[in-house]
Amino acid sequence: MSDSHNKGHFETRAIHAGQGPDPQTGAVMTPVYMTSTYAQTSPGQTVGGYEYSRTHNPTRTALQDNLASLESGAHGLCFSSGLAATNALLDTLKPGDKVVAANDLYGGTYRIFTAVFERYGIEFQFVDTTNLDEVKAAMDENTRYLYIESPTNPLLRLTDIAACAKIAHDGGAKLVIDNTFATPYLQRPLELGADVVLHSLTKYLGGHSDAVAGALIVNDQKLADELAYYQNSVGGTPGPMDCFLVLRGIKTLPLRMDRHAENALAIAKHLEAHPSVDRVFYPGLPSHPEHELCKKQMKNGGGMVSFELKGGVPAGDKFASSTKVFTLAESLGGVESLVETPPSMTHASIPAEVRHAAGLQDGLVRLSVGIENVADLIADIDQALKVSTLVEA
Ligand SMILES: *Cc1c(COP(=O)(O)O)cnc(C)c1O
Repeated sequence: MSDSHNKGHFETRAIHAGQGPDPQTGAVMTPVYMTSTYAQTSPGQTVGGYEYSRTHNPTRTALQDNLASLESGAHGLCFSSGLAATNALLDTLKPGDKVVAANDLYGGTYRIFTAVFERYGIEFQFVDTTNLDEVKAAMDENTRYLYIESPTNPLLRLTDIAACAKIAHDGGAKLVIDNTFATPYLQRPLELGADVVLHSLTKYLGGHSDAVAGALIVNDQKLADELAYYQNSVGGTPGPMDCFLVLRGIKTLPLRMDRHAENALAIAKHLEAHPSVDRVFYPGLPSHPEHELCKKQMKNGGGMVSFELKGGVPAGDKFASSTKVFTLAESLGGVESLVETPPSMTHASIPAEVRHAAGLQDGLVRLSVGIENVADLIADIDQALKVSTLVEA
């Protein structure tokens, strides 16, 4: 592939990076290479470096190169899910190593830490990463990774990425950030000093709720080689069709993210002014505790909005079952709007006392605001709020 496809502004690279026209046929879209193996010219001599599709597949290569370009990284590695990417990262650790992690993480990340890797002698310490003193105090000589999310899920708190990179490096550790909620269009952590960016491509990057995939993006060659070793040895790699779907989704990422954020801000303001709503969590609102940091490290506040209803759990459950345009479902980041109640759905794998300690109340509702007409979304929220406030708390 020629270098000209990796140049230009973000919107141009979203469409072209990693994907020149097919040299053999001129096909403008990257072909879906539905093949597990590749002919060799003599034993050990490949045609283009491709031997076996767990190790390499050209559709996956295009996606990996595209993601590296968008995250301002040198190397991209793709996986069969976001959690398979987390798994490959944790495979680089050995017994006695420690990970300092945010206490407001994606539920599945918390589960793979505590239910899978803790059994292998790896220590996880959870801290409030919005409090940098707490992060500093948790670092010790065994700490290999500082693992953060910003914005967090579901409370949408922000962590200062540049400051955490410095804390990690001062302690001889690497900063890992799950950039799923922000996407590289809103925030590019490697430019702020992070060492590893992790994505669930299932969400905004795919953008159409039709594929499950994950990725790691890094700059360091040694770390990239180590991760590629586990990518191939453990084998959690994505199929070519999923890679194609994510590549297609990424082409419209900038347009989608701008509309997601525009709709989310309008909805957050509307909820904040509503008498049945106790608190609204949206980084683009001036009332958000890290609003200044949002302006500094993100392009806009993104597409996720969480809020607490005054009526607690019964009101939250009633709201989530009463919307008509917002679909009651897990996941996020697709063009369609979704609603969920984290304590009983995405975050059910986190014990209640751990959830409460992190400030996640039982009546919380989370919206993945889609790109539909915002007036229709607000009308749907209003009718569901009306029904849910009739429920006794
Ligand atoms: C969904 C998600 C993951 C896990 O990704 P999968 O593709 O579902 O395995 C990790 N982090 C965040 C923030 C997510 O939203």
